Amino acid sequence: MTDLEIVRIPALSDNYIWLVHDPVSGKTMVVDPAEAAPVLAETDRRGWRIGQIWNTHWHPDHTGGNAAIKEATGAIVSGPAAEAARIPTLDVALSEGDSVRLGDHLATVLETPGHTAGHIIFHLPGDAVVFTGDTLFAMGCGRLFEGDAGQMFANMQRLADLPPETIVYCAHEYTQSNGRFALAAEPDNDATRERMEAVDAARARCEATVPTTIAEELATNPFLRADSAEQLRQRRMAKDAFRG
Ligand code: ZN
Ligand code: FE
Repeated sequence: MTDLEIVRIPALSDNYIWLVHDPVSGKTMVVDPAEAAPVLAETDRRGWRIGQIWNTHWHPDHTGGNAAIKEATGAIVSGPAAEAARIPTLDVALSEGDSVRLGDHLATVLETPGHTAGHIIFHLPGDAVVFTGDTLFAMGCGRLFEGDAGQMFANMQRLADLPPETIVYCAHEYTQSNGRFALAAEPDNDATRERMEAVDAARARCEATVPTTIAEELATNPFLRADSAEQLRQRRMAKDAFRG
């Protein structure tokens, strides 16, 4: 169990920004700041100072707050080396196997191309935490804008190999629409049906449905559960066209 304090900050229409504080070192970082204002308001309120920004990919709904947070705090921005040209605020370029740290908390970088060509995720094995950006969502995966199903299938296999208790912090509240598709893809999956009841109830109360866990995703996520790249490709295409 991690002693990190991980705060969920809703932003834009359905993004989640994750603000992470290590109480031992007093250090604070933020993952994928879509915008700066709500993040700076939260750190002011808590008396924290952001020292780092970790980006999973270049999309503006993940990097839009970089410049203003850097200006306000002097934070160092770490993100995918392969997308350095598209993240002008980048200071530290990360590739597969690199590590970044917050105090004594070590994160390993995994390259997970597919949603974008250089997408990375941050796995903190000692904390049993992974920040998955737009690669893995609750009951879903990222759209394939710059990659293919073979790459995303490989990503899913790597995520499936993480310890099942690993807590998954993804970047969007897409769970309800993902779950509707998951039920269409696997109508006989009782775990998905049960989960969707809880998700519908939570959303009716305007509550968040993330973080999730690798174990929950192994039971209900039709992309993590795809048995081949071809099945993932078919499910991804069906989801893109799905109106549930
Ligand atoms: Zn994205
Ligand atoms: Fe996004």
